[in-house]
Amino acid sequence: MDHFLYRNGELYAEDVPVAEIAAQVGTPFYCYSTATLSRHFRLFDEALAGTEHLICYAMKAASNLAILKTLAELGAGMDVVSGGEYARAKAAGVPGERIVFSGVGKTRDEMRMALEGGIRQFNVESEPEMAALNEVALSLGMRAPITVRVNPDVDAKTHAKIATGKSENKFGIPIARAREVYAEAAAMPGLEVVGIDVHIGSQLTELEPFRLAYEKVADLTEALRADGHDIRRLDLGGGLGIPYTRSNEAPPLPMDYGQLIKETVGHLGCEIEIEPGRLVVGNAGILVSEVIYLKAGEGRDFLILDAAMNDLIRPAMYDAYHDIVPVREPQPGAEQAAYDIVGPVCESGDTFAKARMMPGLAQGDLVAFRSAGAYGAVMASEYNTRPLVPEVLVHEHQFAVIRARPTFDEIINRDTIPEWL
Ligand SMILES: *Cc1c(COP(=O)(O)O)cnc(C)c1O
Repeated sequence: MDHFLYRNGELYAEDVPVAEIAAQVGTPFYCYSTATLSRHFRLFDEALAGTEHLICYAMKAASNLAILKTLAELGAGMDVVSGGEYARAKAAGVPGERIVFSGVGKTRDEMRMALEGGIRQFNVESEPEMAALNEVALSLGMRAPITVRVNPDVDAKTHAKIATGKSENKFGIPIARAREVYAEAAAMPGLEVVGIDVHIGSQLTELEPFRLAYEKVADLTEALRADGHDIRRLDLGGGLGIPYTRSNEAPPLPMDYGQLIKETVGHLGCEIEIEPGRLVVGNAGILVSEVIYLKAGEGRDFLILDAAMNDLIRPAMYDAYHDIVPVREPQPGAEQAAYDIVGPVCESGDTFAKARMMPGLAQGDLVAFRSAGAYGAVMASEYNTRPLVPEVLVHEHQFAVIRARPTFDEIINRDTIPEWL
């Protein structure tokens, strides 16, 4: 459920007509709903009620400061995967003790930055990383709190580019080697083992892979405790999927996911962390675009939009499906036509949908891509020197531009010409 609904014949974001934002901000732009964001965060919080927990929002899904601050004020921690994200989390006012640092290639500079600024834990993904972190922590006279990310060799049954929990993936250390690696960690004076981490992939539409992974983590917890490690925290990753179409079967609910967590690891007495990204922000955002041209082709008509693959890359990168709806509500029973919906970028991959049935549209009409809040704006680029797409946040009847569209001068002036030219 989200807060982008038709009212009086047009699409609203909470209490603001989307067309009104478009008139002020220009298209394309991303628009997020505070109520939807908050609601999704609270669903996780409620799902883990009764268990000591921290929800560390995986901010790579959408990392605008205003989004981070909205969630931080509800009590969210942050899962960061780079020094830049760490700096953003701090800039949004998130205290270090609520930030976990994930990622397979943390640099020493990033480690130093997080240790100096405060960190809840590093989720370490390899032995060389462990050795580097030990050195950096010792050089600062500190001990770095760590979990080791284990790879449980579970098939997440999701798109290959976002599956991370099989042994062929680059993530984590094989769970079969975990006891050996934890023994090495315990012998490093700059590290303090606090728990175990696992994350098996994104856009999971079934609970079963989570169950298999968490059962393995529960067994490992007991084995590591028997080896003398103080395993007091379990980071269970993110990955719960969202519905991208209104017709397909519903992915599991956070409440059922929470139940599964309690069933599989609840008896261990560990503090639970989860790192949801997509489910928090995915359906809390839309991408609004204008139809530039309607172009008749052979056997198909092209709807050429002012949004392109540089603004929303998911269809090109993951074959992702997004519902695309007109901002003016279609009349009931309005005739539909099949369109190929494309952007202006000079690549055939700049195609959002093929033979998509849509009510008749004309030049100048606005459309909205639904479920575009996660992995949308954050993956945008300025390819074709198209200005980075702006972001807007709605809160009831108010809205604010939370990232402005850069001018051409701002874009061009980031380049410098060497003195020999
Ligand atoms: C991407 C990622 C997440 C979030 O995944 P979602 O599918 O957006 O919930 C959580 N943890 C880690 C380590 C990740 O890489």
